Amino acid sequence: MGEATEKKIVLAARAAAKAASRSAAEAHAGSEDYPWRKNPGPYEVFVAEYLLRKTTYKQAAPVFIWLVEEYPDICSLAAADEDLLVSRLKPLGLRGRAGLLVAAAREVCRNHGGRVPCSREYLEALPGAGPYLAGAVLSFGCGERAAIVDTGIARLWGRIIPGAVKRLYSPHRDPGAWLASRTYIEHFKGNPDVGNYILLDTARQVCLPKKPLCKQCPFKKTCKARHKTLG
Ligand code: SF4
Repeated sequence: MGEATEKKIVLAARAAAKAASRSAAEAHAGSEDYPWRKNPGPYEVFVAEYLLRKTTYKQAAPVFIWLVEEYPDICSLAAADEDLLVSRLKPLGLRGRAGLLVAAAREVCRNHGGRVPCSREYLEALPGAGPYLAGAVLSFGCGERAAIVDTGIARLWGRIIPGAVKRLYSPHRDPGAWLASRTYIEHFKGNPDVGNYILLDTARQVCLPKKPLCKQCPFKKTCKARHKTLG
């Protein structure tokens, strides 16, 4: 990425952080309806993010509630009956994730004294995890100013900063999108979890792939694509 592109991303992401900081309370209203957003620690976010891969919030919610009641900490999850977990996760299309979740829980329980560590490097390397899961645990569970990028967030940055985000093969690993998310959260005025919830929820509910709802968007004044997609 060239210097001019980096500068363009940083300036646009700072402006987006300013816009989101201004509308934080309004934009965040209602987002706490999800069970994994009620004062979560790293463990609750860790579990939720394994469930939220390729499934909807609505489908994941009852399974999440069952899972954290049945296995209230990482070591009880590490000792879980894998067949029982598979039977609960299978209806969500997450059959394969049950094994990964238990393998990751065993690794954490064995090496971190029963606590999910607030370490990006460690979390990223866990079975079935990756940069997004690590960022989500750090931001939502540990209260750190950690960046997150998923497919929706990469799409949103691609619209706000045209040309700066190359979303060709693996959007959640796009260096431009990560630079934008890092700059955004560093400059967000308020709790970092709120800043990232605004980003995540806007990407998921407002900046829709086909018909973005630009009038409702907290970033509408800074978005270069808005005039083309005004809905
Ligand atoms: S203004 Fe529209 S296109 Fe731009 S980020 Fe918001 S919803 Fe997406």
